[in-house]
Amino acid sequence: MPLKFSITHHQTGFLSPFDGFKPTQVDVEIRRDPLTGDRSRILSYRLRSLGKLDHSEYLERDKQRPCPFCPENLEKMAARFLPQEIPEGLLRRGEAVGFPNVFPYESHNAVLRLTKAHHLRPSQFTPRQLADGFLLAAEAFRRLTPKALYASVNWNYMMPAGGGQVHPHFQIVASGRPTRFQGRLIRRARVFAKREGREMMDAYLEHEKTEGSRWVGQVGPVAWLAPFAPRAIYDLMALSPAGKSLLELTPQQALGLARGMRRVVSFLEARGVSAYNMALHTSLQPGAGLPFMLRIVSRVHIPPMGVDEINYFEKLHDETVCFLSPEEMAQDLKTMWRD
Ligand SMILES: [Zn+2]
Repeated sequence: MPLKFSITHHQTGFLSPFDGFKPTQVDVEIRRDPLTGDRSRILSYRLRSLGKLDHSEYLERDKQRPCPFCPENLEKMAARFLPQEIPEGLLRRGEAVGFPNVFPYESHNAVLRLTKAHHLRPSQFTPRQLADGFLLAAEAFRRLTPKALYASVNWNYMMPAGGGQVHPHFQIVASGRPTRFQGRLIRRARVFAKREGREMMDAYLEHEKTEGSRWVGQVGPVAWLAPFAPRAIYDLMALSPAGKSLLELTPQQALGLARGMRRVVSFLEARGVSAYNMALHTSLQPGAGLPFMLRIVSRVHIPPMGVDEINYFEKLHDETVCFLSPEEMAQDLKTMWRD
């Protein structure tokens, strides 16, 4: 069995208060992801509408303090790179500006401000702005961390996703050691290649394209699809064939990646997702073995009580409880899969 898409079903029964206390059977579906080894539980009842995207609470609170990433403050308030690393102090490409993270959590950790505008709704980002962010990240890795093996380009979009600033910005991380998630992906890809004599990512893409229910489409250098075992209610990923690195993307290919990403975040906005996390994982050296994967997950509060989609199961058991099947979500996204 080259790739195992494992689903187990458990039945549970009770006397239902919704149906005159008649005996009722409910199906619990547990999935294990063939790429990551993640485990998710898909609940069979439907997700209610999340309502409309509303950032007014954060924009109101944000008026109390100056924004360090706005054009009039950036030169005064953002950190600068050491002259021996980046003599010009800041990295620039289009509207994107790169500078060191003043609250670092890795030896190579920088912030990339994406836009001149202080606040944008997801659908307002242009592919060019996102592509410049990816290309500036690649330049930062090339110039700042020529010896690092693994990297990620990350995004906390808005406060419920852990964003510390309203102003759109990526955070980039490079290291000689993979993160725990990256390490698992590398190990699984190595074991698969040794056992099957071919690359895991190539086999996965081939399977998913043929199977079709989670496949969304190819844009530029990547394919977009829903992971078999999601890490969030809305979880989407872009994959490229094995051996690809962010550092190899031409400006045209980066624009293709950004174009797909814009479609995905516009879809999230249309479904009321007002906050999300993104991580793009990439090897920085040939043979480092980290497959290229870009992942975007929702960080929603479910109405009417504003219940956080992250609960004890995810936080303390490393498993996700998901209210929407990835197949249903992929079909929904396909209905608006155009620029
Ligand atoms: Zn700002």
